[in-house]
Amino acid sequence: MADSTNGRTDPRWSLFGTDPFPILLGDGLVAGSGGVGELVAPHNRQVVGRFSVPDAGQIEQAVTAARAAVDGGAWSRLTGRDRGDLLRRLAELVEKHADELAFLEAVDGGKAISGVRSNDIAVSLEALDYFASRASFRAGAAVDTGDPVVHHRSRWEPVGVVLEILPWNGPLWTGVQRMAAILAGGNAAILKPAELSSASFLRLAQLITQVGFPPGAVQVLPGPGRVVGEALVTHPGVDLVSLTGGVQTGAHILGLTAASIKRTVLELGGKNPNLVFADADLPSAAMWSAIGGFSNSGQICASGSRILVQRPVYDEFLAAFVAHAESFVVGDPLDPDTQLGPVNGANQWDKIWEYVEIGREQATVLTGGVRYDDPVRRDGWYIPPTVLADVAPNCPAAVDEIFGPVVTVTPFDDTAEAIRLANDSRYGLTAGVFTSSLATAGTVTDSLAAGQVFVNQWFGTGGVAIGSQGYKQSGLGGVGMEKYLQQKNVFTRLT
Ligand code: NAD
Repeated sequence: MADSTNGRTDPRWSLFGTDPFPILLGDGLVAGSGGVGELVAPHNRQVVGRFSVPDAGQIEQAVTAARAAVDGGAWSRLTGRDRGDLLRRLAELVEKHADELAFLEAVDGGKAISGVRSNDIAVSLEALDYFASRASFRAGAAVDTGDPVVHHRSRWEPVGVVLEILPWNGPLWTGVQRMAAILAGGNAAILKPAELSSASFLRLAQLITQVGFPPGAVQVLPGPGRVVGEALVTHPGVDLVSLTGGVQTGAHILGLTAASIKRTVLELGGKNPNLVFADADLPSAAMWSAIGGFSNSGQICASGSRILVQRPVYDEFLAAFVAHAESFVVGDPLDPDTQLGPVNGANQWDKIWEYVEIGREQATVLTGGVRYDDPVRRDGWYIPPTVLADVAPNCPAAVDEIFGPVVTVTPFDDTAEAIRLANDSRYGLTAGVFTSSLATAGTVTDSLAAGQVFVNQWFGTGGVAIGSQGYKQSGLGGVGMEKYLQQKNVFTRLT
């Protein structure tokens, strides 16, 4: 297994530059005056680049520019079609620079580069395309008022200045998807990438300056959540705060926005149950369960990290599932054959190993659970796909979101018990059902407390158009583009 960073002969390394990545303020790139953050490559724990952070004055400037853009500025005067054209132009640039963006995401995020191309880049392009078309067409509604001379119509209007706080596990695709929806709706977007992983989005910021967006329409301000994030969250010029991140962060931000009743939308974590019934096609269920549990080394909010298996097929399923877990190619994220890279940081790595130890004490480690000792992987935050079997439903490994390549497996006897175990969680983001019975699929999906349910597969396609909202502590607020819009109802007397 090779380490592609040796010698750094690949010209793409120059993308990290010698100076820190600038911030996108107004409509131009400038050095942030609030300090410098480091970009660390998870596959070898080395600092590979730096980014600059805005200071309080630059944050103020950004909000002022965004306000001007939506309060009568050039951005607010564009038609939906014009906004759509700008998003399409950005899509062309993303496509043209896809290789660079994928490289940065793989190095800075530790994500396998083939997966970045087939998922993160593809979803980003799909989102730009979809929201470009939505920009030029915004349907309203009309109700019959019952009075022939009173006419009603409703219309969707932009909320104004939107702060979008990004997670580190997929800055490019989550960021582009949300930014495209914000801009399509006619809002100004201020995007704050996570301090842990922002290189791909900071390269995107450079591309954004080539599109020709009016000043203040879209700005990118990276930095620590507690500093840059909070200054923006609490700024009275920001109309809506949207976070994709952890539950604790979501609760904290809700506390900050409560006093001013600022609109707050949260897309949070999950501990998603995956129900495998005895009548399921087991080879297929095992394959999809491995995809659901281990993709991006388990660092996906929608991961199927908590598998429940009906007792008659428990052993047979486990044998097939473990074989899939052991077949993943885990290694250098820049190697096109790699399927799983390292996890994204020291804190994450330490936390995941703690749960592996809990699993070792309270359950059975069927595969994984041991640190790599080869020259390439021992230098990075690598964790092998780990299967914990016979896990009690109340074991912390089965209760908490681990956000790593660690999947718990628990047996169940009947449908009622499966539904009870599945729903016994503070989360409700996704869930899955594997069965050959349409009746079971129908009954169980309707009983699961989750915003997305997968039947006989894991992960959905077309997500950019559908949007999704977590149940319970997995989310709060609107779905899709509408979360960045507000509805106005107009009643007109025709006489
Ligand atoms: P995190 O909550 O630590 O950080 C998310 C973002 O919030 C970062 O940009 C961070 O800088 C910012 N932040 C932190 N504290 C802040 C504060 N006080 N004020 C303002 N901003 C602040 O989460 P994470 O660890 O980066 O991401 C992983 C989590 O995100 C997981 O729980 C995962 O399930 C969730 N996630 C959810 C979705 C979804 O669509 N539901 C998608 C991806 C990730």
